[in-house]
Amino acid sequence: VKDFLNNYRYKQFGNKYFLTTDHGSFLVLNSKEFNNLKQNSLDDKLKTKLFNAEILLDNNNISEAVRLTKNRNHFLFNGTSLHIVVVTLRCNMNCIYCHASSKYGEDSKFDMSLDIAKKTVDFIFQSPSEILTIEFQGGEPLLNWDVVKFIINYANQKNSIMKKKLNISIVTNFSLMDEEKMNFLIDNSIGVCTSLDGPKELHDYNRKFLNGSNYESVIYWIKIFNSEYNDKGLKSKVNSLVTLTKKSLKFYKEIIDEYIALGIETIHLRFLNNLGNASKIWEEISYSADEYLDFWKKSIIYINELKSKGIKIDERIYTLFYNKILLEFDPGYLDIRSPCGAIIGQLAYNYDGNIFTCDEARMLNDDLFLIGNVNDRYENLVTCDKSCAIINSSINDQFICDTCVYKPYCGVCPVCNYAEQGNIIGKISQTLRCKVFKEQFDFVVKEKFIN
Ligand code: SF4
Ligand code: SF4
Repeated sequence: VKDFLNNYRYKQFGNKYFLTTDHGSFLVLNSKEFNNLKQNSLDDKLKTKLFNAEILLDNNNISEAVRLTKNRNHFLFNGTSLHIVVVTLRCNMNCIYCHASSKYGEDSKFDMSLDIAKKTVDFIFQSPSEILTIEFQGGEPLLNWDVVKFIINYANQKNSIMKKKLNISIVTNFSLMDEEKMNFLIDNSIGVCTSLDGPKELHDYNRKFLNGSNYESVIYWIKIFNSEYNDKGLKSKVNSLVTLTKKSLKFYKEIIDEYIALGIETIHLRFLNNLGNASKIWEEISYSADEYLDFWKKSIIYINELKSKGIKIDERIYTLFYNKILLEFDPGYLDIRSPCGAIIGQLAYNYDGNIFTCDEARMLNDDLFLIGNVNDRYENLVTCDKSCAIINSSINDQFICDTCVYKPYCGVCPVCNYAEQGNIIGKISQTLRCKVFKEQFDFVVKEKFIN
């Protein structure tokens, strides 16, 4: 065929233009080249650039565009790989933003039973995905330790026949950790993730522990685990998540320094979600998109300064957006892609066996995203009308995104839309996510691709 122009989107940065295609290839043109493209006045040099980015197509590069489209959407063909298991809704802490709306106290009615645990594992192994990740969440999972151990043992036993690539991890506040549990987790190669919100004063303000400070336990166990890994010649390290409240924003340096001091090399500076208990005191603890972006940009500048001195530290969103643009495979971050990870990438199993589309979905005080339970068959659950409607609502093919240069790398969230605007189909340009992501992408593009 004669050459023809592929669909492309663009954004102007000064006298440069950043162009992207549906399959995620990109190109930077100067004003003269861009005007020539618009006027269809293409010299050989410009033609070559456009061919290399598959913006101009012909018989020689069309199969490359098809290959890249397939790679970028590889996650559509795998089956659900991430399985969040809420072994208890109970927690012994009372964090001000608790997204999981956990229950304080002894009431075991919020614990997963062994029977439900067994059915949950059986359900998870119905997924055709070659990679299965089971992640324990809560509440505080260590409050139902017997069920955690049962699931690990039973999943390993099943996998000795199924031979999948099985990863298991636990998210814990460390307050109930002891040596016996640590040894069991390390011996079974269970990944460990905790929450650390920054220096002691900030951490203990955000993450309230009624028996004193939680900060001490977190620091203690991160160090003990990491030194055990080291002694055993293992490469593992404890991962940590930071949650940002209004109070956190002025402490960007202190938060980053805290992570560096513990040898943690990735920090994920996510904005707060209006879910669970956070929504009850939203005005008090939240911040505007602009306040968050100011914090995030200062943090990246500070991280870059540290990196130039040889200190190892990366910010997750920055690295993710950079890789999304640069690499031909989507890096597989379930919350920012189209369609998002709900159902096709992850499922969340509540303590009572109910199955939600994703972890955040079970945090709404609503069963809109409840799609079944562990007695169902996997293939029926993921293909039922409700599941298909939810997956469909997370595809960013609607009008606003369709004009945005970042469409091939971005994604919309039906759970956030519902929490923010009361509808799973959001008015995208009015969402916090869109405003934040657009500026974060702009920042990465200016730093990394426009020079
Ligand atoms: S619905 Fe939202 S929270 Fe759930 S997987 Fe999709 S993007 Fe993530
Ligand atoms: S959500 Fe916003 S930033 Fe993302 S593709 Fe849509 S319009 Fe662009």
